[in-house]
Amino acid sequence: METLLGKTLQELQQVALSVGLPRFAGKQLAEWLYQKRAASFAEMTNISLKGRQALAEQYTLGLTPPSAEAVSTDGTKKYLFKIENQQPKPATDSQNITTGMPNISHAYIESVYIPEDDRATLCVSTQAGCKMGCRFCMTGTLGFHGQLSAADILNQIFSIPDSSTLTNLVYMGEGEPCDNIDAVLRSIEILTAPWGCAWSPKRITVSSVGYMPGLRRLLDECDCHVAISLHNPFAAERAGIMPIEKAYPVEQVISLLKQYDWTHQRRVSFEYICFGGKNDTMRHAQALRQLLKGLPCRVNLIRFHESPDNSTLSDFHSSTQEQMEWLRDWLTNNSVTTTIRRSRGEDILAACGMLVNSLKEN
Ligand code: SF4
Repeated sequence: METLLGKTLQELQQVALSVGLPRFAGKQLAEWLYQKRAASFAEMTNISLKGRQALAEQYTLGLTPPSAEAVSTDGTKKYLFKIENQQPKPATDSQNITTGMPNISHAYIESVYIPEDDRATLCVSTQAGCKMGCRFCMTGTLGFHGQLSAADILNQIFSIPDSSTLTNLVYMGEGEPCDNIDAVLRSIEILTAPWGCAWSPKRITVSSVGYMPGLRRLLDECDCHVAISLHNPFAAERAGIMPIEKAYPVEQVISLLKQYDWTHQRRVSFEYICFGGKNDTMRHAQALRQLLKGLPCRVNLIRFHESPDNSTLSDFHSSTQEQMEWLRDWLTNNSVTTTIRRSRGEDILAACGMLVNSLKEN
């Protein structure tokens, strides 16, 4: 059965017409789905009983609760979702590396809920696994298991028990959002449209390693904040840990970003995982300043979370706290606003780069 979650106002109007309801019932459906967060057709009391029955025969709402959760000692929660109806591309074996698509009918993804004093943020996944193969990221070791639909993305937001407390969203979970840009933009449209959830785009940040075809569309087609995974200012060194650098050098990504206005509502930030001795030296600090010159932005330093099973960059270690503080202060004193991001949920493998679907279904 088709799901209603993930449909735009125009599509919901078509749904209404298809079951014999007037076009304006599409707006009512959008209200029930995206504002009142109805959990069943029965709740939609301003739609005729006959209409509701016809809807229930052909459609589901598309809300699927998480199948497992883990809670960190710091209050961070990680949720596991089962994603059905993957559309596998033809593959010659069970885990085809060329197409990157396994022959499966479902996949799992994780989302991370991060409560703080004055806000609550959900980190959502946009793909099951990831194609980008960043060497410091445990998700990258999973390989790619399929694109999420807009409904799959929205379901993570709507179906967690803490949904009503959310103030912010980051598209920083499994996957490269710009490699699934249609679904990402559709989910953002629904979250920000007046007929949808009516969130301000300022509450949403989308991360990217710099996959430029999708990044261009993200910059042109929505007003959300953007976070670029940078991690090294030198092309050769960055290419050693991030294969994307060879296809889309970060210098080109920054030239693209400079074509947009970052002085008003919208912000661009750079995520920078600190690897002791590998990207936290004076040489790197000076190159970073040079690279970001002329771009109003912020740099977020992140401690490297080594994988417990050594599946990522076993020869790399996190910078010390002192070195990270030195880098933060040097960059800030040299006109690059820089902060150190607090790590959350490391004990439940929920911190940055640690999502490997380690939870098991209940
Ligand atoms: Fe994919 Fe992001 Fe991990 Fe890179 S850091 S492998 S883009 S999930």
